[in-house]
Amino acid sequence: MLSYRHAYHAGNQADIFKHFTLFHIVKYLLQKETPVAYLDTHAGAGLYRLDSEASSKTGEAQAGILSLLEAQSKLPPKTDSTQSFVGFCKTFLDKTGYYPGSPAIVASLLRSQDKLILMELHNNEIDILKHNCGPDKRIHIHHRDGFTGLEALTPPTPRRGLCLIDPSYELPGDYASTAQTVLETARRWPAGIMLIWYPVVGRRENQLKAMHHAICTSGLPVLDICVQSKNAVTEYGLAGSGILVVRPPWNIHHTLGLGIREILEILGLQEDTFFSCTRHGRSD
Ligand code: SAM
Repeated sequence: MLSYRHAYHAGNQADIFKHFTLFHIVKYLLQKETPVAYLDTHAGAGLYRLDSEASSKTGEAQAGILSLLEAQSKLPPKTDSTQSFVGFCKTFLDKTGYYPGSPAIVASLLRSQDKLILMELHNNEIDILKHNCGPDKRIHIHHRDGFTGLEALTPPTPRRGLCLIDPSYELPGDYASTAQTVLETARRWPAGIMLIWYPVVGRRENQLKAMHHAICTSGLPVLDICVQSKNAVTEYGLAGSGILVVRPPWNIHHTLGLGIREILEILGLQEDTFFSCTRHGRSD
């Protein structure tokens, strides 16, 4: 049974780095008029209130997006990529009262000719997702397993596009499923960009290493963005997080690297954090 609920973590620091990366890759794809497909294997609820009991209980949004918005109101970011992302989150929150999850970020950016396929397995989260993101004729919502769903639904029409694989990693097998799904999807969908989020957690070090190795040594071009605390963490705590971008758009590492460094600086985390942006495999 699945028990993870993203409402406790929405808008935290890991969400900021993941959503910042997603935002800029979608923006890159929108530079051309040709339609785009977006597949989200682990969509979550789509929208999150940051004043909810769940959010207040962890305080993660307060240390994440709310601190970022507060800091930028005093001193706007210097980097264009940070400014545009922070501006987007602020406008969304002001207008709707919600922090946007991955489906809502992409739905706000995509155009009428584009398509979104959202998958979610949790019995309650799927109803909230349907309520939050439908009806919209561009959006197709599936109550199903995202790993097998992605393999079944690729290559999508249109062929240009990206997928986000953002598991909760509640099950130890999620790491191996992610690696297997990425390699199979890359084979089935040669034009697809893939974003894979991963947590850095002490007790799952071996599973993460195996997943990372399988994807980064596959020969596919991969950009690995990782933000990790320098402080000692417990076996169960989140020591950091990362995003693998398979088939990254040309030069995106500059945009992402500069932006994430600036976000770390604004949040006052640069002294306590290791940040790396590493390219593996061939560059297309
Ligand atoms: N992508 C969302 C965002 O950025 O706003 C957050 C997703 S959250 C980290 C992971 C979600 O995956 C949870 O809502 C969980 O219920 C769901 N989930 C867990 N296992 C799944 C599976 N095998 N297939 C689809 N969804 C799953």
